[in-house]
Amino acid sequence: MSWRPCVGLEVHAQLRTDSKMFCSCSSDFGGEPNSRCCPVCLGLPGSLPMPNRQAIEYVIKTGLALNCQVAERCRFARKNYFYPDLPKNYQISQYDEPLTHGGYMDLDVDGTTVHIRVRRAHLEEDTGKNIHLPDGRSVVDYNRCGVPLMEVVTEPDFTTAEEVRVYLTTLRQVLRYLAVSDADMEKGQMRCEPTVNLINDETGQRTPKVEIKNLNSIRSVFEAVEFELDRQRDAIETGEQMWQETRRWDENHGVTATMRRKETADDYMYFPDPDLVPLAPSREWVERVRKELPELPAERRHRFMEEYALPLYDATVLTEEQTVAEYFEAVAHVSGDPKASSNWVMGEVLRHLKERRGGPEGSPGVGIADFPLPPGYVAELIALVNEGLISSTIAKDVFARSCEDRRTPREIVEQDGLAQISDTGELERIVDEAIAANPKAVEDFRGGAEKALGAMVGYIMRATQGKANPQKINDLLRSRLTQE
Ligand code: ZN
Ligand code: MN
Repeated sequence: MSWRPCVGLEVHAQLRTDSKMFCSCSSDFGGEPNSRCCPVCLGLPGSLPMPNRQAIEYVIKTGLALNCQVAERCRFARKNYFYPDLPKNYQISQYDEPLTHGGYMDLDVDGTTVHIRVRRAHLEEDTGKNIHLPDGRSVVDYNRCGVPLMEVVTEPDFTTAEEVRVYLTTLRQVLRYLAVSDADMEKGQMRCEPTVNLINDETGQRTPKVEIKNLNSIRSVFEAVEFELDRQRDAIETGEQMWQETRRWDENHGVTATMRRKETADDYMYFPDPDLVPLAPSREWVERVRKELPELPAERRHRFMEEYALPLYDATVLTEEQTVAEYFEAVAHVSGDPKASSNWVMGEVLRHLKERRGGPEGSPGVGIADFPLPPGYVAELIALVNEGLISSTIAKDVFARSCEDRRTPREIVEQDGLAQISDTGELERIVDEAIAANPKAVEDFRGGAEKALGAMVGYIMRATQGKANPQKINDLLRSRLTQE
């Protein structure tokens, strides 16, 4: 029997607006509890919501980037449910008329293109936060209540946890490129709920859909989907009863566990929100947003491969973050040596950032903006190496010194005496010294042991603190040793 995995994803992303979705309260993260609230976001009687234009534009932008249609007319709906983090007892969301729908994303999964249909990207408001205190009391903070939230829903097109992982990484990247969301999962700015079940294509049988909640990193989504697919496969084999339910990911034990049986859409009693007029984004607006779309990660990756003749790996790493991509381009333009620029940015520059970052996986805001050296400095290092003035090993040392005190690489090489010794007279003197100090190696080399040369090269490099030109040393040593 062949059971095919069917995984769909619902992603909620907080939009990067200054104010909330339907009022002018600040939508900043944190703050003194309940200090960023007003009658609208607290749902007090008589208050009326006013939609946030910027949030609408962000969803249009995202929808276009995900190849969706933007509705000519759509509505907000009330999703009714009682929970203390939502003081109105309903969430303003969108139901049968989403702002955008019918898109797709083509993913690159291990060199294969995987086509994932995007059902819709719609607009809604976030809830507040229940906080359960150690003494048993529960309190609620409404600062987050009413923050604009975008919901992006895919069709159940994923067949592996790896595809899910690639999708989330790509989506997060797209949201950041569009500057519509910081999409930091650790901060709850991006939340993800997979639905998982299995279908038997021969018999048409399917396992009940399970929705997984409580996932706060891409890694936990990956692990939870893998676990759930295995759990359902096992249940089929053992004939265990399965339910349509919501399960929670238990990070510590690496398992999903039952939370509650699933509500159906009817339980929410959706109906159009009578406080809000229908939304009809003009075609001029939509076309303007389309024109303003930035170059997206996939396009930029391809351009880097064509324009700079970079391998796929380089192009992928360099385009992961927009600011890194821009930094690389600046270095490449000044240096005129794209491959060396790529090596430097992927190597020393990103390593420098990573060491100082120390943050969680994929966290933004610790990008290249905090990197001390302007692109011209890295380009100068590349020039110094290409001119043969310093070796690439010394260049790394110069890089570190430059990060330390911001002197230009050329200044450092001159002031700290790091220039490669290319003067033949001086090198000859050192070579003679090396020969005199390593009689055993000289004998071995003359006896045909090529490797013995290494001992003398090592000696010279130590004596010159790595400043001797390796090629010249090699040539000099050989001619000296074969002459006599
Ligand atoms: Zn408010
Ligand atoms: Mn939602």
